[in-house]
Amino acid sequence: MKNDQCIFCKIAAGEIPSKTIYEDDEFRVILDLGPATKGHALILPKEHYANLYELPEETAKKVICLAKKMASVMTEKLHADGFNLVQNNGEVAGQTVFHFHMHLIPRYKGDGQTIGWKPGKPSDEELEAIRKAISE
Ligand code: AMP
Ligand code: ZN
Repeated sequence: MKNDQCIFCKIAAGEIPSKTIYEDDEFRVILDLGPATKGHALILPKEHYANLYELPEETAKKVICLAKKMASVMTEKLHADGFNLVQNNGEVAGQTVFHFHMHLIPRYKGDGQTIGWKPGKPSDEELEAIRKAISE
């Protein structure tokens, strides 16, 4: 299902031009217009899914396989030193475009980017309560 209001649907369908580095029947991979590093790219499914929660399992499997392939090719061709996969869901998590996408971010020694978080210091009781909430 496509979404008429969604810019990534239009880009994935080729209706809006993009710097495409890979395409097949189900996905288009484009260069991000506001890259964190040289080569920062986005995997876009051609179907509209707002986020990871909506993504069918079969598509999710293909996304991670494609991410692995792209990471290998991009690391080699761009001489990257490492790689981040980033995937945001919901405004609070930094999602700004509500069509599922996976960020492919090549990393270079001294690139000056920070993709991270401030580590917390939970007590053992807090960790145990969280473990129970999730798994029991
Ligand atoms: P997120 O914050 O995870 O939703 O990521 C959205 C990403 O899409 C950002 O890194 C933007 O720079 C990028 N972006 C937004 N519009 C476009 C566009 N038209 N073409 C390429 N990248 C885009
Ligand atoms: Zn869309």
